[in-house]
Amino acid sequence: MKASRNLQLLLLLPVSLVVLFALLFIYGSLSSVKTQYDLASAAQTRDLLVIEDAARFSHDIGQVQRQMATALEGAQAGILTELQLYRMHSVIVDDLDALGRRVRQLADSELVIDANHDSARGLLDEFESYRRFVIMSTDVIAVNPAVAVTFMEQAQRHFREFSIFSSRIVSLLSERSQQRNIAQGSVLSDVYARVLFLGFVALALLLAITYMSAHRASARMLDIADALSTLAHSEGAKIPLPAIEKMHHESKGEFGRIAATLLTFRNEIERRRHAEEEAFQLAFYDPLTQLPNRRLLRERLHHASMMCDRLDSHAAVLILDLDEFKRINDSRGHAFGDKVLTALAKRLKLAVGENNTLAHLGGDSFAILVESLATDAERAAKQVERYTTRILAKVDEPIQLDDEELRITVSTGIALFDKRTEDLDNPLKHAESAMYQAKAAGRQTFRFYDPDMQTRLEARILLENELRLAVERDQLRLFYQIQVDETDVVRGVEALIRWEHPDKGLMPPLTFIPIAEDSGLILQIGRWVLRTACEQLKHWEADPRCRELSIAVNVSARQFRQDDFVAEVLAVLAETGADSRRLKLELTESTVLENIETTIEHMQSLRAAGLRFSMDDFGTGYSSLQYLKRLPLDQIKIDQSFVRDIIIDANDLVIVQTIIAMSHALGLDVIAEGVETREQRDLLFSQGCKAFQGYLFGKPEPLYRVDALLAGTTPTALTSSTRAVAQPSD
Ligand code: C2E
Ligand code: CA
Ligand code: CA
Repeated sequence: MKASRNLQLLLLLPVSLVVLFALLFIYGSLSSVKTQYDLASAAQTRDLLVIEDAARFSHDIGQVQRQMATALEGAQAGILTELQLYRMHSVIVDDLDALGRRVRQLADSELVIDANHDSARGLLDEFESYRRFVIMSTDVIAVNPAVAVTFMEQAQRHFREFSIFSSRIVSLLSERSQQRNIAQGSVLSDVYARVLFLGFVALALLLAITYMSAHRASARMLDIADALSTLAHSEGAKIPLPAIEKMHHESKGEFGRIAATLLTFRNEIERRRHAEEEAFQLAFYDPLTQLPNRRLLRERLHHASMMCDRLDSHAAVLILDLDEFKRINDSRGHAFGDKVLTALAKRLKLAVGENNTLAHLGGDSFAILVESLATDAERAAKQVERYTTRILAKVDEPIQLDDEELRITVSTGIALFDKRTEDLDNPLKHAESAMYQAKAAGRQTFRFYDPDMQTRLEARILLENELRLAVERDQLRLFYQIQVDETDVVRGVEALIRWEHPDKGLMPPLTFIPIAEDSGLILQIGRWVLRTACEQLKHWEADPRCRELSIAVNVSARQFRQDDFVAEVLAVLAETGADSRRLKLELTESTVLENIETTIEHMQSLRAAGLRFSMDDFGTGYSSLQYLKRLPLDQIKIDQSFVRDIIIDANDLVIVQTIIAMSHALGLDVIAEGVETREQRDLLFSQGCKAFQGYLFGKPEPLYRVDALLAGTTPTALTSSTRAVAQPSD
């Protein structure tokens, strides 16, 4: 109840003030008008009395005139006795005296003097003269009526003069009254204008006040709404509400109380959160290092396992155990031991990376949970191995403690896991047992839990090291697989790499290209392939049977992405003197999509230099017309997986038909790879495909075999069909 009255007051107070002020002003104006009006009315009344008086004079003097006339007539006719005449004389004298007093009074009145001084004087003088002649006339009337008539005529003359003065006074007074009326009217209209103006001002003020208070109130409401939303959505320990704090200080009414309530509410939430945080900290964090404890690590393991399921990725747990911590503790005391642990925790924290979890399992044991590793277990192991090497290098750096340089080492056990890992205690247990293996192997090292994995990883590391030397040791070979047109004429070859390993023999690219890509060696290898292919092109130029052949070279994403890739290709072409029009680069969809803008740029520059592009393995990736349209391609290569079953799988046939139609629509050539049978070739041909590559025409072969094949010396070595070679067009 009280609250709503206060709210009304807040709005009504300024409004009432304006109204009060307006009323006071109007009252003041009206009462001043009234005073003026009263004064004017009094003057008016006085004027009117004077006018009335003046008017009565004429009437009263007329009376005297008539008596005089009667007296004169009676005297002349001799009907009136002397006594009667004398009586009349005294009546007339009395009347004139009375009139004389009134005239003097009138003429002496300030009013008449005010109106016109000369007229007042004139009026008095004329009346005096009139009276004198009338009295003289009545004096002699009984003795000599003729003289009385003459006197009377004189009196008449003065009476006329008197009348002129009197009517002048009357007209002056009426004029004055008229002016007064006009003045009165103008005062009234003045007041009317003022009141009207004031009305407008008051109205404007009221509107402004109403608007302002409404605006203020709504701004505060918004502040309150904002604060409520902040309270509802904030998650931090502190909830800043500056607008509400300000409102609390500034406002005493409802808003002040609402603000106070909100602030209390906020403080309560903050207090509760703080308490929750403390409890959480105690339950899930190690008090010494402030790192997650084993319990929280388990939670994170669950989460990581879910992510593995969703992304089909691997995760790993690393357990790092300080070497010889017991010795440090025993010789230097626990306090020093704690300092070492804290320093190590700090260092590890900087090294683990944002998406990984570092935990302190207690004692001198730490754990790291590494997420988002590759789908392929071996690749994931390789990734985590590189990661561990990096972490251990950081641990290895000397630590400054109490003016003393300290070197610490850790032994690390690693366990990989993925969505198939059911018991999430296992990765921890496995990492721990691997850690003991590492300790047994001489500390300051790491071990994988899976013994097979450990072996494979070691093999892989060995292979990588060997591959590093393969280029220098001239162990790489380029094989060529021919590509034919619809008349079986050889139009070109695809260059396919082999590694002639000293122990393992001829190794296919899939056993070492992924390692080369991971380690970056692919750049060096790619350069070698390109140079070798260009040298071959140059070499063939001299041979009329081969000079029209093109060579298709596979380019890895990592290679193609290099800023200097274009320059490098052009340099190799220039150095070898090969014809750029005979060089075709094969890109895969994933290479192209990785950074489509740079890809297009590189493709355009190279195409301008005469090179051609083929989209390898088409159909296995996105195969979207959308991006295909944007790429400056020359050819599309139907992936061998579709060709393999084209005869028996209707779906594959439909896909192949679509790819061919799409290519034709974009004006691109089509080639099918992996063609092994005549049937496949014929079906592809019937669908509009006019270029082929596959075992049907020839396997990837070393150069001398291809040369021989092209020379037609050993046709039977490859296939029973007779082979033709493209003839130079010039
Ligand atoms: P790719 O580019 O799709 O090469 C075609 C692969 O299919 C070759 O395997 C070839 O031997 C094989 N092939 C050809 N015709 C037939 C056939 O009729 N039937 C069957 N079943 N297979 C056939 P290869 O030589 O093992 O090469 C594998 C992959 O290695 C290549 O796939 C390519 O992605 C990569 N690669 C090869 N050489 C290089 C290179 O110099 N640089 C790069 N970056 N990658 C290369
Ligand atoms: Ca290829
Ligand atoms: Ca391919």
